[in-house]
Amino acid sequence: MLHKIIESVKERFGNRLLILGHHYQCEDVIAHADLIGDSFQLSKIAAERSVSSCSDRGSELEVIIFCGVHFMAETADILANSPLNISKRSGRRVDVVLPDLLAGCSMADMADYESVLSCWEQLSAAVDIDEIIPVTYVNSSAELKSFCGERGGISCTSGNAEAVLEWALSRGRRVLFFPDQHLGRNTAIKMGISMTEIADWHCKEAELGGNNVDVIRRSKILLWDGFCCVHQRFLPEHIDEIRDIIPDVRVIVHPECKREVVIKADESGSTAYILRRIMESPAGSSWAVGTEGRFVDRIAKQNRDKLVVNLAFQPSYCSTMGLITLENLADALVKIENGNLSNVIRVEEKVAQSALIALQRMLENV
Ligand code: SF4
Repeated sequence: MLHKIIESVKERFGNRLLILGHHYQCEDVIAHADLIGDSFQLSKIAAERSVSSCSDRGSELEVIIFCGVHFMAETADILANSPLNISKRSGRRVDVVLPDLLAGCSMADMADYESVLSCWEQLSAAVDIDEIIPVTYVNSSAELKSFCGERGGISCTSGNAEAVLEWALSRGRRVLFFPDQHLGRNTAIKMGISMTEIADWHCKEAELGGNNVDVIRRSKILLWDGFCCVHQRFLPEHIDEIRDIIPDVRVIVHPECKREVVIKADESGSTAYILRRIMESPAGSSWAVGTEGRFVDRIAKQNRDKLVVNLAFQPSYCSTMGLITLENLADALVKIENGNLSNVIRVEEKVAQSALIALQRMLENV
């Protein structure tokens, strides 16, 4: 019944509606997505799509439903409703709807604007602040992207973190990286930055994130202490166990996993990288994948000529991604059809403008 409701609203709206499905969504939701991808990929495509049909009135994109989490819908809003795109649409905005407003990201919530600002002020007292480039993972609030945009900083994804850090370190002596410590650490070490040049900023510590001035002065990378609870569940023991059971298995993990897991794995990379590696691998190959469980289950179904298993026996599912259901997707669509739009994510204009700068620096420079 719900499937039918969704499909009939989609049919009536045609190109005026776009449903985006993040890789970590459940099968029921993904079945109705027009595009499936990772967070930034989806937002970028949505922004392009939002202006591609401007000359064709009556089939212009009006609403994006983002089946993902809050920061993703914010990014889609910022990119789709950039001043340039709004002017191409003669002043018209595209609404971005998140079917459940509680679908947030616990990692993004680990760095709030006030705490990062306090960190910045403390650093200003310790070192020359003009030598620090703030870098925010896209898994962060629009406010933090705007923080970076206003201070010569930039956004990054798990797919381009290395290129972004290179860009940042060519402009400053050190980087303040938030919110994910593991992506920051794994990327920095891969680039050859030594452990002594990496400092952990513990945001709950009263002074200098638990560091002394010397540690800050010799640091190249300052890592906020956020993490993804889904990826942090993977342990080195899981790799030992799976190798005992499937001796020729290739272990691939996301760089949001802890350092010791990334070291032990055969390779690591973004969601898009993991998908590509497995899709392109020869029939008969075996993979143990350390990332979100729904995504791993889907890759396994799409690659039945290979053995694809979760790295841990207990798959690691993202609970907030799971808040988007067939029910609330159908509800959002019915409301759109009745002209009763709800759950619209709209980033405040001033924040959106500065956040766009951080996102555009990433798009233009790496
Ligand atoms: S998997 Fe981790 S980073 Fe992604 S939305 Fe869930 S909590 Fe956030």
